[in-house]
This record gives sequence, structure tokens and C-alpha cells, in this order.
Amino acid sequence: MGVVVQELATLSPSQYGRILRCPYQVLLEKSVEGRAALAAPGMGAGGAGPLGTIIHGVLETAHRTGINDSAAFELAWKRQLKAQEASLVKRNQQHLVPLAYRAKNYAVRKLMLRWLVLGIQPEQHTIGQHEGRVPLGPEQRLTDITGRISGIADLIRQGSSGALEILDYKTGRIFSESGRENAPDILKEEYTLQLRLYAALLHEQAGMWPERLLLVDLAGGEHQVSFSHEQCADLIQDARNLYQQVNAAVSVGRAADLARPSLSLCAACRMQHLCEPYKEKV
Ligand code: SF4
Repeated sequence: MGVVVQELATLSPSQYGRILRCPYQVLLEKSVEGRAALAAPGMGAGGAGPLGTIIHGVLETAHRTGINDSAAFELAWKRQLKAQEASLVKRNQQHLVPLAYRAKNYAVRKLMLRWLVLGIQPEQHTIGQHEGRVPLGPEQRLTDITGRISGIADLIRQGSSGALEILDYKTGRIFSESGRENAPDILKEEYTLQLRLYAALLHEQAGMWPERLLLVDLAGGEHQVSFSHEQCADLIQDARNLYQQVNAAVSVGRAADLARPSLSLCAACRMQHLCEPYKEKV
């Protein structure tokens, strides 16, 4: 008997790109067997997930209250680290603790975050022309009119001209791998889709479009994502359609039909051993 998967409660902008690639992979990862597999030593993201959560937690503190010096940064880091390590132990992932030794690039990421954070000023919330209408500040949940598409934007702020900007912090690589030497850097498609969905969600929730969408790397570099209102409105409709298709397949017991087995896609998939279509076709 195959793995039992559940319908999606909501679809978030951060998972949209992955669901587009292989909906079945995301469903398997949420199943009891999938979660147990990801928790096994050597099978998870090697501490990248908890480290990313720590980084986002420190960024949120920096935006909310400000972090003015190295001592305050250390305090904020330690608080987040302690909470993440306790959570890993609780989830039987002791093999990832201590993160300082287990998580890849721990020291480099912490150092880069310190440089970034010491230049961040606390955000002013709901000010000026957007008062009371737009969720401003870090970690803002945005939801569409149906309640099916929902996610948390890392930061919504007003730029110097008062224009709205949505920022998303990335703790890893933000450009696609290019096969060609000297090829121009191209932002990963799943990240550009994620930010365009946030723009559409902000418009549906607050009736306003942002003027800029920015991906921020750990060196503090801000990379602008192009978008048009029409493109974002089409995209959120596509996301709603995908949500319906996925849940319709799950509800009639045909979730495995959502698998997209291929050599290139499945090579890095950690759900291979649970995936019948992969075993049959690849
Ligand atoms: S093995 Fe391939 S088809 Fe199966 S879930 Fe993973 S990516 Fe999808």
C-alpha cells in the first residue's frame, strides 16, 4: 500500500515553485513517513533548515527593535540557537546538535549576518500614507481572498520615497546554476515567483501594489525582481488552480498521478524510496 498523503491546508508562495516542479514530492514530505525520513541522520537538510530559521529570527529582532552592537547580536543569536537546538532534540534530531559543528557554513553565515544586521534600523510600522491599511514591518502574513494562498513575507517596508517594498532574505544561493561560462546571473525562478505572489497577496489583502520586490542575500546585496501587476494577478490565479488540482487528486486517492518522475528532477529528491512512480519509471 502506498504512502497516505493529506490535502494541502494552504499553499504558500515559498513552496509554490517546488509544487510546480513535483507536487507529489511536497505531499510526500508532509506525510508521516516523509517526515520520519527527513528526520533520520543524513537525510535532512544537514542543519540548513534550523540555521535558516535562526537567521530569520535574528533578522526579525533587528527589524523590530534594532541590534546596535556585537553584544546585542550575540545575545539575539544565542536565544534563537537555544530555541532551535531544543526543538531539534524534541523532534529526535539530536544528530544535528550542536549546530555550530553540524550545520554547513555555520560560522560564515553567522559572520555575514552580523555585518548585515549591524546596519539595520528598526522598522516604523503603519506610517504616513499607508497608515492602518498595509501591514508594514517584519514577518507579515499575507493571505488571498479565498484563504487558500497564504504566506509570511520577511519584510514589508516603505522606501525613501514612501513606496512600498517587499523583501525576502535568502540564506543560500539566489542565482540559478548556469551551464555557460560568463553567462549573466539569473535569479532562481522559484524565488522570483515567490516574491510576485507576495505582491499579488498584498494587493488582494490591502488593495495596494508594492513598487519594488527585492531578494536580499546574506552579504546585504539587494536584487530587484521584475514584475507587472497583470503578471502577478495571473500568477495568483495559477496558484489557486494548482491548489485545487492537487487537493482534488488527493481527495480521490490519485495523488501519485501528480508525480513528475525524471532523471534530473528525482536525482536530488529525498522521497525516492517512498515514490512508486519513481520506482516504476526512472
Ligand atoms: S522521486 Fe521524483 S517523482 Fe517522486 S516525488 Fe521525488 S521528484 Fe517527484
